Amino acid sequence: MAKTYPTHSREYNELVCTAGLRIDKIPYTFIRLYPIPFRQLERESQYSKWEIINVRIRKRDNDHRPESYEVEPRSIHPTGNIIRPNDGWRDRCSYLKDFFAQTDSCTLLRNAKVNKTGAQSLALVKPRKIEKVTLEINPDYRKAHEKGVDEEEVLTLFGPEFHRVYPSPVSLKYKYYCQDANCRSHTQSVIDWEVQAAAYKRWVGEDPREALEFIQDRFIEHFKDRDLWFFVGNVHKRPADFMILSFFYPKRGVINLEQSTLFA
Ligand SMILES: [Zn+2]
Repeated sequence: MAKTYPTHSREYNELVCTAGLRIDKIPYTFIRLYPIPFRQLERESQYSKWEIINVRIRKRDNDHRPESYEVEPRSIHPTGNIIRPNDGWRDRCSYLKDFFAQTDSCTLLRNAKVNKTGAQSLALVKPRKIEKVTLEINPDYRKAHEKGVDEEEVLTLFGPEFHRVYPSPVSLKYKYYCQDANCRSHTQSVIDWEVQAAAYKRWVGEDPREALEFIQDRFIEHFKDRDLWFFVGNVHKRPADFMILSFFYPKRGVINLEQSTLFA
């Protein structure tokens, strides 16, 4: 469901992750697979977003968040079965139906403050109201670009090609109110790799206009007609710091929140 942007900073270890849904046991649970050493993966082990994979995992020793697991890289077997966005995302919604009314951002924060290691750290949340979307060039990216720093090469989370890892090109933030009636708003950064990959591809020389316009269309305007949800996750060392790992945006009307079920 989510592949996050790899960063080269001191937070490197915190931010690279793949998060999804564990479906080998009922009820389904969210799972964080980490670290995914994509540069060591054979081509046939590289998987797509929304693809069902088989993988051997073990509980992480140094990360007690309930959803965090370590991956045995050689055991990753993509099945080729990608859950398609057909029919207004009905299939995708059916996998996630237990999570639509599970929690909200205020509850996640409260729990993370009380129980630093054991609280829920991945969730699907429905913004009640989006207050503000901020899209801007990440000033650190500019600086890094000018200096040409960072020789470390990391395989992108999507393709087989190598990229130098810069700070993410753009900063995209959502300020929103969650379902909690007393919510005083949350401002969270989007760390979805897809957003940054789109920026990379469309950044022409020194001119970021095309990149910003594309993201505005694809990730902001497009969602205005959809039923927009956030797949959020926190930072290992800062449990009360949640970020938007990816977007979930079925067609409006597919999820019926009142009944917490899908329309038949
Ligand atoms: Zn809230």
